Amino acid sequence: MHDDVFCKIVRGEIPCYKLFEDEYVLAFLDISQVTKGHVLVIPKDHYDNFLATPQKVMHKVMDIAQRIGQVLIQMMGAKGVNILTNNFEAAGQTVMHFHVHVIPRYKESDGFRLEMHDNHEGLNLPAIQEMIKSNLE
Ligand code: 5GP
Repeated sequence: MHDDVFCKIVRGEIPCYKLFEDEYVLAFLDISQVTKGHVLVIPKDHYDNFLATPQKVMHKVMDIAQRIGQVLIQMMGAKGVNILTNNFEAAGQTVMHFHVHVIPRYKESDGFRLEMHDNHEGLNLPAIQEMIKSNLE
């Protein structure tokens, strides 16, 4: 039994604005509402993060995240949606229970910013390719 905040939500010990629930998955409003309609989708069983989640469960979570993203665009007037999951503290994960953020986007300065810089200069791309590729099988 885990004591993280999402396990407590699954067990009904902490309330949430629930959107969807089945045998595997729970979806609810993120308390911080980074943008209006910000949703979290989690597995009901505990896995520390996306990387630690069995494929079948991960697929169930992603199916619901996709559906919620579609609804946010169709019904909430969102112009876009960011779907992301942080893995480990170094990547910004604060709750150590796998969760997918579904963040509707309305305009550039709507409360969420993702910065990706081009840092490729000086990197040995063939070596990086080989290191990753050779470990995929
Ligand atoms: P992370 O930084 O781990 O990717 O995201 C954790 C998210 O969980 C944050 O966006 C935060 O607002 C949300 N969160 C933390 N505690 C609660 C809670 O008790 N209820 C809800 N609904 N969301 C929470």
